[in-house]
Amino acid sequence: KIILGSLFVAYLAVKWTAPSFNAESLRGARVLVTGASTGIGEQMAYHYASFGAQIVITARREKVLQQVAEKCLSLGAQRALYIAADMGNESDPDKVIDFALEKLGGLDYVVLNHIGPSPFSMWEGDVEHTRWLMKVNFFSYIQMAWKAMASLEQNKGSLVIVSSLLGKMPSPFVAPYSSTKFALNGFFGALRHELAMKKSNVSISICTLGLIDTESAMEKVRDVTNVPAYPATDAALNIIMTGATRQHELFYPWFTHGLALTEDWFPSLTDYFVQNSYNYSP
Ligand code: NDP
Repeated sequence: KIILGSLFVAYLAVKWTAPSFNAESLRGARVLVTGASTGIGEQMAYHYASFGAQIVITARREKVLQQVAEKCLSLGAQRALYIAADMGNESDPDKVIDFALEKLGGLDYVVLNHIGPSPFSMWEGDVEHTRWLMKVNFFSYIQMAWKAMASLEQNKGSLVIVSSLLGKMPSPFVAPYSSTKFALNGFFGALRHELAMKKSNVSISICTLGLIDTESAMEKVRDVTNVPAYPATDAALNIIMTGATRQHELFYPWFTHGLALTEDWFPSLTDYFVQNSYNYSP
């Protein structure tokens, strides 16, 4: 109780000292959101739209993107464009950035959020799947970040990386997914140092999320864990606010920060809780 209480007080202190979010700053902002056909990405598209941003959305399913873009326009987006792309394909990350730069005339926010589907199961040696998932969940992120960097630099822009508690704290059944999120945290953490040392204009926000109630996540964990799931629309809004206020990190929900610290401070206790938070019998 004492540990939880101290963590909560620390969280409130960080929250109170954080820069305040001004929704007006997003009016007319030029934003790219990946993985925006569904889930958290779709919700981010709707928030940006209601703040009056100009957005490009991408994912693989063109028809679904078209429907999301139409809804964005009805919510108040100044522009809502879409481009279908498969991030497992080597040229598609560049194609998406080129499209956004050409259509919007530059980028203020690049929100990298997509993930390829991955099984929720014990790892049985499928190296090929892990290699492919690294391509989709990691290599496409660094490719897009690099391609967009010059424009972000020109516009004092922001890179927003959607990561996971599983990128800080390993967990069973998701070894390939977890490895892609650890890679993102390592790469973009290092890049943030380099940009700061170069006195760059570009901010990097890394967002650590706990369980969020998107369809794809819930269908995997519904029957195996009682860990509470938080609403996608609220997660999406928190990610947007973190990017707009140029903060380095988001932990959503708040206690994910405590869990990440517990992993380092009390490893055996964490192992016990992690392994016992799933219904599993061999
Ligand atoms: P979803 O599975 O709901 O959405 C994934 C998105 O990525 C979809 O738009 C999908 O669209 C797109 N996508 C899938 N494969 C590809 C591909 N090969 N190329 C391009 N786009 C692709 O994910 P969530 O909304 O649940 O998660 C969003 C982010 O939040 C992810 O980065 C995830 O790691 C993170 N997160 C989520 C948590 C959760 O509990 N939901 C917890 C922690 C982090 P399409 O099929 O049309 O291509």
